[in-house]
Amino acid sequence: MTECVFCKIVAGEIPSTKVYEDDHAFAFADTNPQAETHVLVVPKKHYADLPDLANDPEAAAGLLAGIRDLAQEKGLSDFRTVFNTGAGVGQTVFHVHAHVLAGRSFGWPPG
Ligand code: AMP
Ligand code: ZN
Repeated sequence: MTECVFCKIVAGEIPSTKVYEDDHAFAFADTNPQAETHVLVVPKKHYADLPDLANDPEAAAGLLAGIRDLAQEKGLSDFRTVFNTGAGVGQTVFHVHAHVLAGRSFGWPPG
């Protein structure tokens, strides 16, 4: 049985606030939000990080389409999408996920 917390969320084995779901992607609210809107979007299949996901073009494209479609559903025209890759930049959950952030001002480059 998987020990991956995001696999368990996708499977409904631990609770989440679901925001969006399709065949490839599952999105839920981050429990430690960094913006008014802070959604995590994950592929339903387990990949540890972005380089791992990129080996499966169908899953990668499915994740991007999920981000597009949930943004459209939520009426988000401007949003920031972040993939942390590696513990050195703060990745703490090793099931690849996109942070989708909106509803506050964002500086560039990010701090
Ligand atoms: P990262 O640091 O890029 O790996 O992001 C992991 C994110 O997952 C953090 O923003 C956490 O707040 C979030 N997180 C961890 N566990 C859960 C959970 N069970 N439900 C929702 N968000 C979570
Ligand atoms: Zn997983």
